Parts: sequence; C-alpha cells; structure tokens
Amino acid sequence: MYSGMHNGGAPVLIVGSVALDSIKTPLGQVTDALGGAAVYSSVAASFFTPAMVVGVVGEDFPMAHIDFLASRGINTHGIQVRPGKSFRWGGSYEFDLNQAHTLFTELNVFADFKPTIPPAYRSAEYVFLANIDPELQLEVLDQVEKPKLVACDTMNFWIENKQDSLIEVLKRVDVAFMNDAEARQLIGTSSLIKAAGEIRQFGPKTVIIKKGENGAMMFCDSICFMAPSYPLEEVVDPTGAGDSFAGGFIGYIAHTNDISERNIRKAIIYGSTIASFNVEGFSLDRLKALTQRDISDRYNEFKQFVFFEPM
Ligand code: AMP
Repeated sequence: MYSGMHNGGAPVLIVGSVALDSIKTPLGQVTDALGGAAVYSSVAASFFTPAMVVGVVGEDFPMAHIDFLASRGINTHGIQVRPGKSFRWGGSYEFDLNQAHTLFTELNVFADFKPTIPPAYRSAEYVFLANIDPELQLEVLDQVEKPKLVACDTMNFWIENKQDSLIEVLKRVDVAFMNDAEARQLIGTSSLIKAAGEIRQFGPKTVIIKKGENGAMMFCDSICFMAPSYPLEEVVDPTGAGDSFAGGFIGYIAHTNDISERNIRKAIIYGSTIASFNVEGFSLDRLKALTQRDISDRYNEFKQFVFFEPM
C-alpha cells in the first residue's frame, strides 16, 4: 500500500494549461478561479511525488496561485510569465455533470506559447502531456530525453481543430487518457471497445477511457481493467476531474517507479480517489485541504465496491 509521503519518488514533468476558469454548475459558480489541466494534474501528482510544471500565464495571473503550487512542492520555474492575459476557459454543467459545455476558450498567452523545457527537466522519467494544443505536446516530446513513461490527455476542442497533430502525439506516447465522448468522436464509433482498440493502433500500449461518474476502463494487450468511480452523493464542480485523475495516476506510478500492469491498476484507483475529492469543491478548494489520510482511507474503500466471491 502507498505509504503516505511523496519524497523519494521520481519527479514527473507536466506540461499543460494553467488557467483562470469561470465555471457554473447547478451548485454555484466561480469567476477567474485557479484552474488548467497542468494545475489540477500537478497538484494531484504532488500527493505522491515531486512535480515540475511547464506552462504560461499572463501578467494578470495572481502570484498567490503560483505560491500555492510551490507550497505543494511543485517546481514552477517552467511557468513563463508573458505580457498579455492568461488563458481563460468558461464552462457550465447542467444536471448531467459528465458533460461540460464550453462557454468560451480564450487562448491569450497560449496562442503563441513555445514550451521550453528547462535543462534540468529534460531527463524526467515520467512525463504527462496534459490537455494543451497537440502541436505543443509534440514540441515537448522533442525536448525530453528518454522517459520511462509518457502519458497524454486531450479534449474535444483539439480533436476538432488539430486532429492530425493529435494522432502524431498518440504515436509517441505510452498511455493515452481520453473521456468516452472524446474516444467516440476521434474514432467515429459508438463502441468504446472498438475506439480504444483503434486508438491503441496509433501507438499507446495502454488506453484509459474515463467515463465520469461511471468510472474508467483500461485497455492494454489482452486484459482490460474496469474501475468504478467513488459514489459521491454530491458533486460540486466536475472541472478538473480528468486532470486530477491523470495527475494522481502518473504521480503514483512515478512514486513507485513501477510500470507493471499490476501497479497501473493501483494507479488508476489512486487517480479515481484524487478525482473524487477534487469534484467535492470548486477549483482546487478540496485538494487544498486534502490529507494523506483522506487518500489512503478512500483508496481502501474502493475495494469493497468491486469485491465479490468467485463461484
Ligand atoms: P477536465 O475537467 O479535467 O477535462 O479539465 C478542465 C480544465 O481544462 C479546466 O481547468 C480548463 O482550464 C482546461 N481547459 C479547457 N479547455 C482547454 C483547452 N482548449 N486547452 C487546454 N486546457 C483547457
């Protein structure tokens, strides 16, 4: 079992959006709150292992947010501050919280961002290409040396606008995360089994399909693993569920430095655990208050949801 402290794990390099999010859900709303795929995933990873973030913000980005990341032991030297406004995303959710409706995407400083991986990060053994323009994900892959495991995530915005680049990314990663709607959209099929199989043909040995409150499915050589989501009575804000899932996943893998299938299954449950906490509050609010004890207690609870006696 996971022992609790994150020191000693291999560091994970995370590249992705650092954002100010304006979100509306049936339980409330926030404006210009801390968000972004790299933020959610690095905070999630930081419960297990040191994380290094590469991204960009504008001059309007509150320093308090960077200080918060640093307070989690996250190396923020790779976050460039550029003249202009920070990336902003507006989203709303109705009662089907699995479906985010994008209200606006303002790329701002992301529009001409060139990721520069600081020399000290280039030898990172674990890399997570969080949601960002797939062309930038490719630029990152060109700069890293020889990672043990590279995972990527994406979203419908890039499937619609940069599909060819996204497929180039898929050719070069070990693990691809996608939610169910994105996998169906990318492959053009209603079957997730077929979609995952075809995504694997592009390159990733492991494909993890996230299904919101319905859990996650892992596809690898022959076996697939199905993990439930933690049954929560109330989801306050689903934003960042996928990113915190992936961040917890890769953070745990890096912490244990073990990419066996057995350990990947555990990492999926750790990812589900962190994601389930994340959606209990807006922005990073719940993760800010999360303890190692909360994580280990909920991780162990997962077992009861899937345990049954064999015949
Ligand atoms: P998730 O709910 O895990 O799928 O991701 C939500 C996060 O993705 C939010 O914090 C947004 O800031 C970020 N996001 C939304 N649209 C984009 C985009 N086109 N590129 C990169 N990040 C985005």
